[in-house]
Amino acid sequence: MESIEGNEKAVCAENANVKSSGPSDDAEKSPKKKHYEIDIFRGWCKSCGICAAFCPRDCISLDKDGAPVIADSTRCTGCGWCEMHCPDFAINVREKTSVKARSEEI
Ligand code: SF4
Ligand code: SF4
Repeated sequence: MESIEGNEKAVCAENANVKSSGPSDDAEKSPKKKHYEIDIFRGWCKSCGICAAFCPRDCISLDKDGAPVIADSTRCTGCGWCEMHCPDFAINVREKTSVKARSEEI
């Protein structure tokens, strides 16, 4: 499969600074940093690679067969670019909530 990396990532200008700052910036160390869970529904995924190409934080990579795998969910900012561009609605990102936070909502 032909790689679509490069041009596609340039589209995400809003997140360019976030990406360049890398995982060791202050936001990463903040105790208030939000954490996200990235789910890929294998039954719907056609391994097009768009999600990996669009992710400005390199959270998603492709395996040897071109299927997306979560490389590092701790880098995810919840920007939603992968979800928005998946043509098959096969990827979902949601914020992880603590048990304490969930119990406070009830
Ligand atoms: S929401 Fe998707 S595109 Fe955005 S950082 Fe997380 S995995 Fe990457
Ligand atoms: S964009 Fe959607 S269909 Fe394409 S590889 Fe990612 S999850 Fe699969």
